[in-house]
Parts: sequence; structure tokens; C-alpha cells
Amino acid sequence: MDVVTRFAPSPTGNLHIGGLRTAMFNFLYAKRHGGRFLLRIEDTDFARSDAAYLESILQGLKWLSLYHDVLICQSANVNRHREVALELLNRGKAYHDKGAVRLKVNHDKPVKFSDLILGEISTDGNSINDVVILRSDGSPTYMLAVVVDDHDMGITHIIRGSDHITNTFTQKLIYEGMGWSLPYVAHIPLIHNAHGAKLSKRDGAVDVVDYKTMGILPEAMFNYLLRLGWSHGDKEIFSMQEAIDLFDITAVGKSPARFDREKLYSLNSHYISALPPERIALEVRSFVGEKIVVSDSAFVAFVELFRKKCSSIVELKDSLRFCWCTYLRPEMNRILLQELLKLLENTDWTSGLQEVLKEYISLSGFPAKEVYTNLRMALIGQEHSPSVVEIMQIFGKDIVLQKLHDSLK
Ligand code: GLU
Repeated sequence: MDVVTRFAPSPTGNLHIGGLRTAMFNFLYAKRHGGRFLLRIEDTDFARSDAAYLESILQGLKWLSLYHDVLICQSANVNRHREVALELLNRGKAYHDKGAVRLKVNHDKPVKFSDLILGEISTDGNSINDVVILRSDGSPTYMLAVVVDDHDMGITHIIRGSDHITNTFTQKLIYEGMGWSLPYVAHIPLIHNAHGAKLSKRDGAVDVVDYKTMGILPEAMFNYLLRLGWSHGDKEIFSMQEAIDLFDITAVGKSPARFDREKLYSLNSHYISALPPERIALEVRSFVGEKIVVSDSAFVAFVELFRKKCSSIVELKDSLRFCWCTYLRPEMNRILLQELLKLLENTDWTSGLQEVLKEYISLSGFPAKEVYTNLRMALIGQEHSPSVVEIMQIFGKDIVLQKLHDSLK
């Protein structure tokens, strides 16, 4: 079978992480089976749809490189939806009611379907309403449009949140009414907060864009969402290709996954250290409005030096402010700096910088901490940082001497 999956967001809100995970599972399942992943924008609710929300959806998918093979806007299919509503009327599977068209449900018959994740699910016919499928103004409802489009687009697998289970029962009746068969369905258990309730805005950021602005890398978000409800043995770190090779929808857990922000940040920290420093430097640059005053190669070297233990790009950016900001140098030990300036002017920069400083510390009587702190203040305007010697090497002799000079002015 040629697998075709789809992500079908309504542009009535920003893309949230639950939606992004649904999109990702659809994408991975299709790619795993050499199939196609379609993006269908369900834009028939004109009053609530907004171009800004559409943009947020497209940007979120692009951020994680979840590229679609085909893009469709549901509003283009409205005539076809009406046609199917009429066909259901003709077949006696729907009826007119106050100008609208409703689905005719046999309330005596249970409805069941087999879910790739949750197994057999059934409901009593009484729990299904004779839903409106065509409003009195002739516009199709979600319930009808989604079935018609999934059928016409040849969707083989519907993978979506478990909040759609009740819709699936109703939609199955529409498929049956038309003599079509229900595609394979998989309902992904929802994402819960730490207290076991559905994740919501009250739990902090849920919109994908917010994570981007908080300095989360797409690789970390991808990896985090992948493992949220799905696992492959003990494997924690997955590249996109590994995810495509290993993803299996039937291995998604049956119970809700718990959102754990700390886990996300720890994966982020992993990728900040593991990805090429040039790539991380670009990410940092995207957060900096000012002109970076160190050379490109020095900037990359600083990124490489400072990135260890940083859990977000924003945190890394803050530690690199000296690359674009002029900083205040609070109280410094002038005598110490004067001595260092003299000493470093006459030091062979290519070897033994560390030894020279050590020797100075033992001879001068200044505590090591005071020497290094003053150097840090003079060079980068902050008290704490990774190795001062490495910072000095990245700046190079001329700049270091210049900065020591400036700090004595
Ligand atoms: N447009 C629906 C939503 O955003 C999803 C429809 C579906 O996946 O079937 O909730």
C-alpha cells in the first residue's frame, strides 16, 4: 500500500506543541513507508481563521523540517462537500432539518473501529448525534469536510489526537453512508502536565513559536516530541533519519505522555554542545540585534568555548554579550592589571600563556582568583566564564593588550 498521511490543522490559533507532535508522527509514518505527507489547512471556519495563525503553522512545521508533499486548502473543496451531502440525502443517510442537512444515525447500533494505538474501541449508537453536515447557508461542517477530503485525497492513515475519538465514530458512519471504507486510524494520547491534566496555556508556553524564542533548537524539540509518548528501547537521541528509520505508530504508548520541560532543556543542552559550532553561532546570531564586533572565526570559537552546560540559545547569547556590547568594568585592581599588561606585552603568545600567569600569581602574591577575575572583567566584562587563557587565545595578543589598556583608562 502507498501510505498517505495528513496533518489537518485549522488556522484558528497558533500551532501548539501537541499539534506539532501530531504533524511529526504523520510525517514520520509516511516517510518510514516511502509514502506521502499532506498538509491540509482546514480553513472553512472563515470567522475564526486568520492568516497569522496559518503563518504560525507553516513556520512551526518548517522549523522542524516537516516538509509536506502537497498543500491543500479545504475551502477549495466546498462544492465537492456539498455534492457528498446531497449524495447522502439521496442514499437516505441524511435528512433535511430547518434548512440544514443532518446525518441520519442508527441509534440502536453500536459503532466500533480498530485503532492502531488503542486497539478496539466502540460506543453505543445512542451516544452519537445526528450531527449537522451542511449548514442552512450551504456551508459544510468539519465533520463532513474532513471525511470527504480524507477520502478524495486517498489518505490511508489518519493519525491525530485522542480528542478526536468521538469524531471518528461519527465520521465512520459518513464513510459507511457513502460506501467508502474508513482509513486506518491512530489516536495519539494527549500531552498532560505534571498534575495529569491536559496541557494548557496555564502550564506555561504551549505555542511552538514561544519555544523558538526561548532558545530551544529545532533538533531538541524534534527529539523531545518524538520521545513524548513513543520510544525505541532505551535510545534517547534520534536524528531525523534515525527517527524515519525506526518510527512505528503501533509503538506509541496508550496512556497520556507527561510534558517535562526539564527534559526538553536537557536535550537542548545536548544539541547545543553536540552540533557544529558554526551552526550554533548562526542560531545565536539570530538573537542578536547589534553588530557583532569580534571576527567571524573568533565568534565561532567563543561559541564553542561558552556553549558547554548552556541549556538554551538565549542563555548562551547572554554569556556572549561582550561580542557586541560595550561593557562597564566595575572596580578593578589597577596595580594588578598594570603589571599584567607589562607582563603580557613581553610574553611569547604562542606558548605557555598559562604558565606565565601561574608564575605571576606565585610571584605577585595576588590570589589566583583575583587575577583571573580581574582579567575576566577587563576582557569580557563578566566575573565568571570558561577558561580565561582560552578567551585570551581567541582574542589574540593585540586585542587583549588593547582591552587591558582600555580598562586602565
Ligand atoms: N482540523 C482539525 C483540528 O484542527 C483536525 C482534523 C483532523 O485531524 O481530523 O482539530
